[in-house]
Amino acid sequence: MTTHSLLLLPGDGIGAETIAEVERVIAFFNKTAKSAKFETDTDLVGGAAYDKHGLAISDKAMAKAMKADAVIFGAVGGPKWDGVPYEVRPEAGLLRLRKDLGLFANLRPAICYPALADASSLKRELVEGLDIMIVRELTGGVYFGEPKEIVTLEDGQKRAVDTQIYTTHEIERIARVAFDLARKRSGKVHSAEKRNVMRTGVLWNEVVTATHKAYAPDVKLEHILADNCAMQLVRNPKQFDVIVTDNLFGDVLSDEAAMTTGSLGMLPSASLGAPDAETGKRKALYEPVHGSAPDIAGKGLANPIATIASFGMALRYSFDMAKEADRLDRAIAAVLAAGLRTADIMQPGMRQVGTADMGAAIVEELSRHAA
Ligand code: NAD
Repeated sequence: MTTHSLLLLPGDGIGAETIAEVERVIAFFNKTAKSAKFETDTDLVGGAAYDKHGLAISDKAMAKAMKADAVIFGAVGGPKWDGVPYEVRPEAGLLRLRKDLGLFANLRPAICYPALADASSLKRELVEGLDIMIVRELTGGVYFGEPKEIVTLEDGQKRAVDTQIYTTHEIERIARVAFDLARKRSGKVHSAEKRNVMRTGVLWNEVVTATHKAYAPDVKLEHILADNCAMQLVRNPKQFDVIVTDNLFGDVLSDEAAMTTGSLGMLPSASLGAPDAETGKRKALYEPVHGSAPDIAGKGLANPIATIASFGMALRYSFDMAKEADRLDRAIAAVLAAGLRTADIMQPGMRQVGTADMGAAIVEELSRHAA
C-alpha cells in the first residue's frame, strides 16, 4: 500500500472550518481505500503564522511543504492583519509557497452540477453538465516581466509600464500540462492568445503548435483569440474542454468560466510544478478559489465544497486515484441533488445546512457507495 503525505495549511477565517471537512473526507478514504493511505501534518500560514512567528509562513512550514506529496491550502487574510508590513502580509505566505514550489500551472475547473444549473446567470441548457478546465500559466507573463514601473516624464506626466515576456520553455511546459490533461478528458485543447496584436501571442501560438506536433498529435488542438474565447465562454461554453492560456488572460478567463457555474464556495483549484527528474512527481498545491470570508468566519456557515473538491483534484492529479476522485464528485453531486445547500447557494424549497453538516452528508454519501 502506498502512503501519500499531505500538508494541511488551514490559514485564516473560514480556512480552518473548510479544512476540517476535508479531514473528514481523508479519514473516510484512509478507512476504505485499498491501494493508498494518507498521512497528514498541519501548520500555520497567513495571519495565523504572523501572529505566532511574525512571518506569513515559517521556514519550518515551508520545509514541510517542500517534502509533502501535496499541500491542501484553506485561505488567508482578514481585517485583523490589514496593517501588518507588506512583506509579511498574509498573502505573502501563498506567494512564497507558489514561488518556492515552482507552481507554474494553475488548473481551474468550471463544473456545473445539474442541481445548481438554475443558479447560473446563463440559461440551464447552456451550463447544465458543463465541465471545462482552464490551464493558466502562473509564474510568467505581464505580472512578473521587467521593466514594471511608473516614471514621471519631463513634462510632469506619468508613464506606467508592464512588460509581457514569455520564453519557449515557459510556453512548452504549460502546453504539455494542457495536453496531458486533455488525454485524460475528452482530448481537446483550445490555446488562447492575441497573436494578432502581441508578439508574445505569436510565439505562444508557434510553440503550442510545435509542442502539439511533437508531443501530443493524438490530442485535438484549436487556436482561438483570447477576446473571442471570452465571448464564446458565455455564448456556448460547452464547446470547450481544456483551455490553455497565459497568466493575464488566464486570470480573467478562469474567473469568467467559473462564475457561469455558480458560487465562490463551489470552486476548487490546483497549482502544479514541474515533474521531478527522478520520481516524476510534481509539487502541487490545492486550494479553493475563495478567500477567508471574514464576514462569515467562525459561524459554521461556510460552504466546504470548494475545499473538498480541491482535495478531489489532489486525488486525481497528484495520486492517480481517479476512481476515488470520481466517487467524491458523485457524492457532492448527490448531496446537492438531494436538496442540501449551504447559505451561499440556498434556493427556495431546499434544506439549508451548515459547514459541518454539509461535510458529514458528503462523507455519508461516500460511505453509501463504498466498495
Ligand atoms: P472572499 O472570497 O473571502 O469572500 C467574498 C464573499 O464570498 C464573502 O461574502 C464571503 O462570505 C463569500 N464566500 C467566500 N467563500 C465562501 C464559502 N466557502 N462559503 C460561503 N460563502 C463564501 O473574498 P474577500 O471578501 O474579497 O476577501 C476576504 C479576505 O480573503 C481578504 O483578506 C482577502 O485578501 C483574502 N483572500 C484570500 C485568498 C486566498 O487565500 N487564496 C483569495 C481571495 C481573497
